[in-house]
Amino acid sequence: MLLLTPGPTPVPEDIRMAMSGPTIHHRTPEFEEIFEKTRELLKELFDMEEVLMLASSGTGAMEATVLNLCKTKALTINSGKFGERFGKICEAYGKEYSELKYDWDTPSNVADVVNAIKNDESIDAIFIQICESAGGLRHPVEQIAKEVKKIRPNIMVVADGITAVGVEKIDTTNIDALISGSQKALMLPPGLALIGLSGSAMKVIEEGGVGYYLNLKTELKKQKQNTTAYTAATTLIIGLKAMLEKLHEDGFDKLYSDTKKRSLATKKALEALDLKIFPKVPADAMSAVYDEDAAQIRKILKTKYDVNMAGGQDHVKTTLFRINHMGLVAPYEAAWTLNAIEMALDEIGRRPYDGAANAIFSKELYND
Ligand SMILES: *Cc1c(COP(=O)(O)O)cnc(C)c1O
Repeated sequence: MLLLTPGPTPVPEDIRMAMSGPTIHHRTPEFEEIFEKTRELLKELFDMEEVLMLASSGTGAMEATVLNLCKTKALTINSGKFGERFGKICEAYGKEYSELKYDWDTPSNVADVVNAIKNDESIDAIFIQICESAGGLRHPVEQIAKEVKKIRPNIMVVADGITAVGVEKIDTTNIDALISGSQKALMLPPGLALIGLSGSAMKVIEEGGVGYYLNLKTELKKQKQNTTAYTAATTLIIGLKAMLEKLHEDGFDKLYSDTKKRSLATKKALEALDLKIFPKVPADAMSAVYDEDAAQIRKILKTKYDVNMAGGQDHVKTTLFRINHMGLVAPYEAAWTLNAIEMALDEIGRRPYDGAANAIFSKELYND
């Protein structure tokens, strides 16, 4: 079965092999060397001063940034399930927050965020997704971050880049914390969260430090010495090192341009089948299609054509399907998926099959 969900993504065979060795102890020079090399590569990928690795899923990193980077009040941006989550984390800790809420197909905009900041002196951190995976949309994070910093230079800008890091080059100039996770564009098994930090974020953390397991002050101190506060997720970090070295060999830019091309070609092919791309501003990480028959199409792909794509969540559970573009997806995998969608549309009597999806996809992908 082809795993083409926007997380988890398949782990390439050479990376699985790299993780198949015996367990090594985390307090050894051998592991510290691996940790150091991984840290260096991560700093390059994130383009940030420091990067922390936490043994948790991505949500652990979201929680850690809420705890450690927001002292007075948070502004959360909610265009879907993951934006909503930042608010839920604030609620769980009794932290004050206000939320800018949008429809799931609608990205936030600079003016709304600027107004919210101007009208509330107590907001000291904003939390936003780069790609909101619930609807596959792209928020204008860089522009928001830039304008917000002009008004309040000390504000912490926290960007959830779990479906953006490793997908596209992110301008981190005005971003203080950039979150990622192992199971999306980095093509590793789930269980490792990453947080890129700016110099200002490091200062806030070093002067504060909140929580116990998710206390970033403790982690920062240890990880600067190439070790972790608690037992490191050694196997995942070994895999991450292998993956980063593999991607680095061809250059991270190659990964970004391949992903973008495949994403655009897929979206064009879907539109040629009269399917509707859901978000107003689609991200490169995935193609989200709004369709009344989404659940049925997905079922046909799963049972007949061996493709597992994701559905939607909550109110768009049965009316959305989402195709992953993150990581090293082979063109023939994307092409087969599009062909299968076209065949499914024929099967449910929507559109006779004529091979249009693959014709458009191939033309877009190879026409330069
Ligand atoms: C997958 C994802 C997360 C994290 O989810 P976990 O299940 O905790 O790893 C957070 N934000 C976005 C945008 C995601 O796509």
